Amino acid sequence: VSFDDAGLDSVVLENVKRMEFPEPTPIQRNALPILMQNYDLMACAQTGSGKTAAFLVPTISKLVSKIFKGQLATIRRRPGQAAWKATPLVLIILPTRELAIQIFEEARRFTYMTPLRPVVIYGGAESRVQKEQIQKGCDILVATPGRLKDMVERGIVSLARVRVAILDEADRMLDMGFEPQIRQIMMSSDLARDEGRQTLMFSATFPRDIQTLAREFLKEDFCRLR
Ligand code: AMP
Repeated sequence: VSFDDAGLDSVVLENVKRMEFPEPTPIQRNALPILMQNYDLMACAQTGSGKTAAFLVPTISKLVSKIFKGQLATIRRRPGQAAWKATPLVLIILPTRELAIQIFEEARRFTYMTPLRPVVIYGGAESRVQKEQIQKGCDILVATPGRLKDMVERGIVSLARVRVAILDEADRMLDMGFEPQIRQIMMSSDLARDEGRQTLMFSATFPRDIQTLAREFLKEDFCRLR
């Protein structure tokens, strides 16, 4: 399936057109129909395969369609409202700051002219500025595991409204020792295998520990792309 005939929202399709991709990559062609139909997905995909657009475009399109139809609302802080938790609709967990910034930039391009606001958070930087960004409203949260867990524990972010959870470069996250944080995030907030939610895993390699995580986090009828 190409971006043109994937049934994308027209504003999101405009944003894709602006990227001037000559044609969809194999992962995009294969993942688009699966994700538009709300299946969970485990995909083997390297950096450079176009996997980011493969998960961002259908995810953003589905949410934007729902918002335009009045079936879903973005939640913003009211002026003067003191206690406020951001409730992102999309959660993207990935291993490094560099990757986080890169995926955030891509999310910004695909959400242009839509009501969705992406925010990026990562460790090794002051959390005050990141908190301020979150408090302006956060619909798509791009995050490294440690900083995310910290923001959830401090009550800055709630994962209660997450519709789509995406684990990107899952093998690298395990290599870096993030498994406890990921497990805690996925399990404590009931993100895994919840009927009303969609979970996607992307990994360059497919070793046993990744297969185990996929079976734990994804619904039984999940799709595999390798
Ligand atoms: P990724 O694999 O998601 O890290 O993407 C690698 C790079 O390929 C990014 O700079 C994308 O903007 C670009 N890209 C994504 N999809 C396509 C496509 N269909 N054709 C050409 N470039 C693409």
